[in-house]
Amino acid sequence: MRQEDLDMLRAMPVAAPAMMINGKSVMAETGATLDVVSPIDGALLTQIPNASEADVTIAVTSARHSFDSGVWSRTHPMVRKKVMLAWADLIEKHAIELAVLGVRDNGTEISMAFKAEPMSAANTIRYYAEAIDKIYGEVAPTDPSTLAMILKEPIGVVGAIVPWNFPLMISAWKIAPAIAMGNSFVIKPSEVASLSVLRMVALAHEAGLPEGVLNVVTGAGPVSGHALAMSMDVDALAFTGSGPVGRQLMEAAAKSNLKRVFLELGGKSPHIVFDDTADLDTAAEAVVTGIFRNSGQVCVAGSRLLVHDTIHDAFVEKIVGLTEKLRVGDPLDLSTQIGALSSEGHMHRIQKTLEGANSVVSGGIQILSETGGFYMAPTIVTDIDVDDRLFSEEVFGPVLTVSQFTDEIDAISQANASELGLASGVWTSNLGRAHRMVASLHTGVVHVNTYGGADNTVPLGGYKQSGNCHDKSLHAIEKFINKKTAWIKV
Ligand code: NAD
Repeated sequence: MRQEDLDMLRAMPVAAPAMMINGKSVMAETGATLDVVSPIDGALLTQIPNASEADVTIAVTSARHSFDSGVWSRTHPMVRKKVMLAWADLIEKHAIELAVLGVRDNGTEISMAFKAEPMSAANTIRYYAEAIDKIYGEVAPTDPSTLAMILKEPIGVVGAIVPWNFPLMISAWKIAPAIAMGNSFVIKPSEVASLSVLRMVALAHEAGLPEGVLNVVTGAGPVSGHALAMSMDVDALAFTGSGPVGRQLMEAAAKSNLKRVFLELGGKSPHIVFDDTADLDTAAEAVVTGIFRNSGQVCVAGSRLLVHDTIHDAFVEKIVGLTEKLRVGDPLDLSTQIGALSSEGHMHRIQKTLEGANSVVSGGIQILSETGGFYMAPTIVTDIDVDDRLFSEEVFGPVLTVSQFTDEIDAISQANASELGLASGVWTSNLGRAHRMVASLHTGVVHVNTYGGADNTVPLGGYKQSGNCHDKSLHAIEKFINKKTAWIKV
């Protein structure tokens, strides 16, 4: 990736994009649009269609028609595989363009966005494309006078609603396993970051995906997202986003057709550093990158540092030193380590969570306001107790809280004192302690002496109110299939 290519792409105007419904580029039926403001400089970037319930119904109907027609759901698995592999190749070919478009929309530093967005999405699509011809049904060990087959069938029409922090990666986590299994799909990206998803979906059609199999509607969550959740013709809904919206989606499913609702929600992930850690410098670096990359707007961000009291002061000094060296700025500059926050409203919400915090030892303020963009200094707040609001509230921004613990039992108790349970991290050189911590932490992901591993082969999902399902790996496919049992008299 060269700086001159990024500069050339960022200078290009962004034409108002259309939605993709039934393989056609369409605007909202009412003509309504929403402004898209770039967090890099606060300037108007373009406008996206603001879909109504009627637009969502058209998208769902086209998905249903494509599913029932069998054009994708009953085609030869090798055909689906070929199209998906071609789609992944096209995404990779357009990776820089997609990454820059996404960064102009949501502000993630390009060094991260390039790998985590188009490249990751392409890999995910390839992973599930390769799985298509390796998944078998089963024959049950029944009495030999009958044959009982367990068939894996696509469920039908799958809807997805995704957030703004990694729009391509998270969309691919939902779309790829679902369409690999033959489902048809309607996706609703976040109004804060729809541009790159629209482009990625257009590339799917260039790759040969039949019309109606993958549709995208944009617009306000409470309107188009709600309509998708209330649809009587959506069989499953996959969501990544905040807990309150996840709750509303479950209610909508209960009030409509009892569609399956798969939730990947927030986190308040504890990052625990014991005094027997072999290399505290490496641990300090992992703590700092574990919270501040993408300005802390990462679901698994290690936002709660729990540090052994015997090393507390020295360790805090290390992380403050590293944090103050971080280069925050223009996300399209290759040397930037931390980009912009996704929107002005989100920046204000983060600032509000810091109100009343006494011991801010680093950051805590908006910076680079002369750019017109939305930037905050990476922030560290110490002396946080279990009862403090900041201990439990998900900030989803560049804010690290620091608490102290006395021993292993205290560390486990504080780590688990949260309604959320997405991820955690542990630093120790004691192997027995590492295993005890893995067993004791109520989180879907536990890291030991590392933080933030990512691979398509490994499932990602939360415990407690962080979610009820898994993205990634072959386990993710289970969400998008029906198991049918067939009894045949022999
Ligand atoms: P959000 O819940 O505000 O929005 C997510 C999506 O829901 C958007 O597309 C939005 O338009 C839509 N939406 C909003 N209101 C809706 C409604 N009433 N009905 C239907 N849809 C509606 O979340 P966000 O601010 O975009 O993203 C941040 C959140 O996402 C954080 O809580 C973060 O932890 C979570 N997240 C979780 C994971 C994970 O894998 N667990 C990954 C990334 C982000």
